[in-house]
Amino acid sequence: MESKSLPAIEFKNITKYFTGSEQQRAVLNGITARVSPGKITTLVGPSGSGKSTLLSLCNLLLTPDEGEISVFGKPLSEWEIPELRRKVALVFQDAPMLQGTVLYNLQTVERLHGTVLHDPGDLLERVGLTRDLLEQKAQELSGGQRQRLALARTLANRPDILLLDEITSALDPASVKEVEELLLQMNKEEGTTMIWITHHMEQARRVGHETWLMIDGKLVEQADTETFFHAPQHNETRKFIAGEWV
Ligand code: ADP
Ligand code: MG
Repeated sequence: MESKSLPAIEFKNITKYFTGSEQQRAVLNGITARVSPGKITTLVGPSGSGKSTLLSLCNLLLTPDEGEISVFGKPLSEWEIPELRRKVALVFQDAPMLQGTVLYNLQTVERLHGTVLHDPGDLLERVGLTRDLLEQKAQELSGGQRQRLALARTLANRPDILLLDEITSALDPASVKEVEELLLQMNKEEGTTMIWITHHMEQARRVGHETWLMIDGKLVEQADTETFFHAPQHNETRKFIAGEWV
């Protein structure tokens, strides 16, 4: 097991450019931060501020133009991508499903990662789905069921770090609650580290140990969650929490 004192993820002066039609624009601008192991860090910020881009760098879907990211103390350049992606799993808002049954979709982890699925029905139950869905076509599931299936598929690998990108935004309130409880339980029982992007301030506060605010490619505030909401250091944070950010 990795040492607890080591950050789960460390961002060192990360800059990322996207080439627009006219000029290069820094989508991430000098991000320096440490993700505490075993903690849930909630990441908030206006749409387009660079949150998803930051997560995509953590499992090498993208690479930074400047700076370095380390996972459990090892620079990303030294990781084998398959091993990295088993340990650092990214779950999106609209999780794509393959044609075929729920079971076939769960078995993706066997085909991609060589992970053996001992009890696929149990995986479904962990995310609040029933085992009788195994033989159903994945495309026929509701949005909420698909999101939970995507999570079940991710959990099969028992990742050490979960990167969650607005995963509850399409769910009804009851499903949101269930997914939150599942993830909080995983964090508590298995010590899974999470970066959890959400646009719901209440959720950021409910589930977070630490909270970061990103505006325009910069991390404006990094604090423990209670401090973030009660006594933020920066004016932008106060405005953002109050819903006055435009
Ligand atoms: P957020 O998740 O905070 O809404 P994103 O990280 O998705 O923000 O996007 C940040 C900015 O980068 C946006 O202005 C977006 O249009 C731009 N962007 C994202 N992906 C690409 C890409 N592949 N090519 C060019 N620009 C991109
Ligand atoms: Mg996003």
